Amino acid sequence: MPNRNMPAFKKPVEKRSAKAIDRLLGMKDIVPSEFRYFSTVSDKAASLAELYSFNAIKTPVIENAELYKRSSRHNNDKELYGLDCEKGENGILRPELTQGILRAYIENNFAELPQPVRLYSIGPVFRREKMQTGRYRESNQFNLEIIGENKPMAEALLLAAAYNFFQDLQANFQIQINSLGKIDCRKEYAGKLNNFYKERGRRSKLCNNCKKYLGKNMIALLDCKEEVCQQLLAEAPQIADCLSDESREHFAKVLEYLDELNIPYNFNPYLVRGLSYYNDTVFEFWPTNDEGIANSKLALAGGGRYDNLVESLGGRPTPSVGLAIGLERLVSKIKDKLILPDLKEEVVFLAQLGDQAKIKSLILFEELRRAGFNVRQSFSTDSLKNQMEEASRLKAKISLILGKKEVMDETILLRDMESGVQETLAFKKVKDKLEKKVNRKEGVIYG
Ligand code: AMP
Repeated sequence: MPNRNMPAFKKPVEKRSAKAIDRLLGMKDIVPSEFRYFSTVSDKAASLAELYSFNAIKTPVIENAELYKRSSRHNNDKELYGLDCEKGENGILRPELTQGILRAYIENNFAELPQPVRLYSIGPVFRREKMQTGRYRESNQFNLEIIGENKPMAEALLLAAAYNFFQDLQANFQIQINSLGKIDCRKEYAGKLNNFYKERGRRSKLCNNCKKYLGKNMIALLDCKEEVCQQLLAEAPQIADCLSDESREHFAKVLEYLDELNIPYNFNPYLVRGLSYYNDTVFEFWPTNDEGIANSKLALAGGGRYDNLVESLGGRPTPSVGLAIGLERLVSKIKDKLILPDLKEEVVFLAQLGDQAKIKSLILFEELRRAGFNVRQSFSTDSLKNQMEEASRLKAKISLILGKKEVMDETILLRDMESGVQETLAFKKVKDKLEKKVNRKEGVIYG
């Protein structure tokens, strides 16, 4: 559905001048015709988060690089955008929101508040990734974090919130879920996996990247999306075989809650989400096509439990769970189905003809805007015909027209755009008249 107020922007047909500067690789413009999809999805995200008792937080886009060195899910430093800051500090363009939120939790002493602390945030993240469809170097995420909660209910709540969010937006998806257990379990599993690849010459079949991780970061092998590595994995031992009783019980409880809530999921024994700060539960939301086939390469969201992360960043031991939804992928998935909400306030268009009328219109425009009317104008256009075309394009309910004669008579013309009926009003009565004809924002408008 096109944006009501902005024509779709077409790429210029003619070749641009050689001097024109293009955006950098991996960066994306969200042009006006697309912007309302993003703002609608962000608005829905924020109201959903509030309904689930999350509080909004905004943290800096640039953080101390140390924060991500201690905790990054990004094995490859090349993926991170480092920055030189003052006093020899190393900054970083955040590749995820979670660490900044946790830094703020520690720095602002949120541990003193009743726990858990539920926080949400929406904002850009930066990763110098290999370019692929649906993979940008700057993208926007919507994060939900439940900090200070060790019970499996936390995972169930996060998954329910995201499930309902995607359902409301009519995105087709599948939840993939697994348990990574605790560190001991992963060590035992890494050994089993290493033995598995040593047997029957399997290691020689791995992709070059996985060969590099062999023996060092075995869990990372599970995250590889290369066809050949995926095939080998199908026969590999599963992490579930190494779970402690505590982890097994925790995971069983998460699944039980999901069953109770009628939330379908797919137990995926090889889901690991990179070698990262996660323990126990991890999950992803994979988009599915009309045939129900899931695409693991373009996950809409991902998250899990990170019980040791707050401590590793300098806080107290604080069990926590988080989830991140990628807005670009979500918008591109649901764009065709998303019904943009109608602008609630009906449009009043203010047209003018002549210098005196222009000045008077400027003053009236401010007055009407402050009174809460959705008033639009095209002050830079002199032709009345063009202004009326603009009013039609904006689907104005009423047009107000001020010409030389009206300025002299202290009147104004009011045209009902649907019927075409026009009437002349005393200028000072215009606000009262509009109040009866169009709806407007209630309350005081500042600025
Ligand atoms: P991650 O923290 O990598 O699991 O990211 C969470 C979500 O953000 C993913 O499920 C994607 O929807 C989205 N996302 C991650 N990386 C990118 C990227 N490079 N470009 C666009 N979206 C991304």
